[in-house]
Amino acid sequence: MRWKSNKLKELRDQYIGMLSSLYGEDESKQLVHILTEHLFGVTPVRIALKPEKRLSESEILQFHQAVKELLKHKPIQHITGHTTFLDLKLAVNESVLIPRPETEELVQLIVEREKNNSVRLIDIGTGSGCIALAFKKHTPEAQVTAADISAEALKIAGQNAQKQHLEIDLIRIDVLHPDSYAALPVYDVVVSNPPYVTQSDKKLMQKNVLDYEPATALFVENENPLVFYVAILEFSRIHLANGGRIYFEINEQKGPDLVHLLEKHHYMEIALHLDMHGKERFLEAVKK
Ligand code: GLN
Repeated sequence: MRWKSNKLKELRDQYIGMLSSLYGEDESKQLVHILTEHLFGVTPVRIALKPEKRLSESEILQFHQAVKELLKHKPIQHITGHTTFLDLKLAVNESVLIPRPETEELVQLIVEREKNNSVRLIDIGTGSGCIALAFKKHTPEAQVTAADISAEALKIAGQNAQKQHLEIDLIRIDVLHPDSYAALPVYDVVVSNPPYVTQSDKKLMQKNVLDYEPATALFVENENPLVFYVAILEFSRIHLANGGRIYFEINEQKGPDLVHLLEKHHYMEIALHLDMHGKERFLEAVKK
């Protein structure tokens, strides 16, 4: 690879061109904007003001390396090391799912419902901590617990809590094994975005997800797609107060099955909500 120029503006145009076949032009522009800001602290406006700005040899190498990783489908969030979730800047790495915009909608729903109650909430399968932390930020009176099976994920969630000055409890549990959570208290709210992508859906997923994001956070067997929801209802049998609320993010194809499951467990006020794409993505219900 040869660089015709060491001018930032020209390098950017060259890299946008290289990325466009994979990401399309608009997204490539955006990716390159994010990279230049991340690597050199330069915003698009400043580049326009200083078209002559040049990069050093080592800066060009850094830039080139990052573009190479993007061409290998590496998520931009793994290159910069962070993402934005609602108004929080959160660290992410390959141990946690990169928070999705749909999950922001889930948090907005929970905040809307619970903002006037000083609740005890547990987030099961917290990953980066996105749900637990965003909820705590918007509902400071709440006592928030973030649980995960992965020690690596809890490390990231802990770092995010510290950086944001948000006080939450972090605990390691395996929700499929009741012994691991028997000592926990009772909560008013249980929330979870558990793994829900079936092996058949996996075939439709992009390389950036399949190669870089943790399978344990994403996939379930075709034969047992609701395994985590069943386990969370078992958890809630003892650890959710009567009258307590449950909030789930769900596989868009499993809405009716999950409503049925909640009915079988005698939950009340069951409601399915659509996400921004019009897909059945969230469920809420009240324990009798
Ligand atoms: N919505 C995520 C995706 O499609 C999956 C999240 C999950 O399994 N909980 O990548």
